[in-house]
Amino acid sequence: VMAATNRPDILDSALLRPGRFDRQIVIHLPDVKAREEILKIHSRQKPLADDVNLNHVAKSTAGFSPADLENIMNESALLCARRRHKKITAQDVDDAILKVIVGVEKKSAVKIPKDRRITAVHEAGHAVVSRFLKNQDPVHEISIIPRGMAAGYTYYVPSEDKQHMSKKEILDSIVGLLGGRVAEEVVLDDVCTGASNDIEQATKLARAMITRLGMSDTFGMMALETQSGQYLSGDSNLVCSDQTAARIDVEVKQIIANCYEQAYQILSDNKEKLHETAKVLLEKETITGMEFMAILAPNQLPSAETEKAEEKPEEKPDDSADDVEVK
Ligand code: ZN
Repeated sequence: VMAATNRPDILDSALLRPGRFDRQIVIHLPDVKAREEILKIHSRQKPLADDVNLNHVAKSTAGFSPADLENIMNESALLCARRRHKKITAQDVDDAILKVIVGVEKKSAVKIPKDRRITAVHEAGHAVVSRFLKNQDPVHEISIIPRGMAAGYTYYVPSEDKQHMSKKEILDSIVGLLGGRVAEEVVLDDVCTGASNDIEQATKLARAMITRLGMSDTFGMMALETQSGQYLSGDSNLVCSDQTAARIDVEVKQIIANCYEQAYQILSDNKEKLHETAKVLLEKETITGMEFMAILAPNQLPSAETEKAEEKPEEKPDDSADDVEVK
């Protein structure tokens, strides 16, 4: 007898005793090699143009489930048909990936100039901040074209499938998330509603550092929170006194304040680059990582490193809300 579940944690232990279900096989999300194999399966019946490299596609889809990958190949085929191509091109696949991550481009959406400018400044903030952080992945694309629930997005490209995140990486992620809101403050001298998703995520990360990941100086390696579902991001419950809970809130606030300060410093030091990036975004609506690098260092040809990063995109979706930062 074979069975599958997403919630092994809530099964009756009697069911799992030897003699009942003897073996438990954990199936994780596919790694890069598995993703390539899965993509091959789903492109069997589809004509691919020569510029489609499934290995590249696999690298740019870290964290995708097999169903997502199947969806990408189907969307690519639909885009290809709609564009009246004979074969699926790399552009079709790229667009399909973004469609799956952030939703459909709403090119027709009318945006008032003020909103466009706020989105441009906000996204430029994410991109410029991340460029000055050691542990942030390179920017692959920035756009102010609304997609799905997002008013705009900044799309990063990790260079590898990461299993673990270090404390420094988490802190840099928080700084990057806050970059959008900080840019509004630096450039527009006011803040607006587009950062709710960023703020929620930054808070979640800071909280996890303290309550679950043993990365707080005050509490050390103490588990202060348990998650009900180990495999799904289920509800979590605090397992500490109300007093401790109040101290956790203070620490979360402190971590976010420090990260905000860091983002503020970076963006005030690089205000011109921020303005320039926002300006180009308003003109072009979507700019690639290469174009972004050219804005930051206009006299420098792209280095081998950035070219390499461009070559092997990897991203992690981060959906919903007014603004999406895609990693
Ligand atoms: Zn944002």
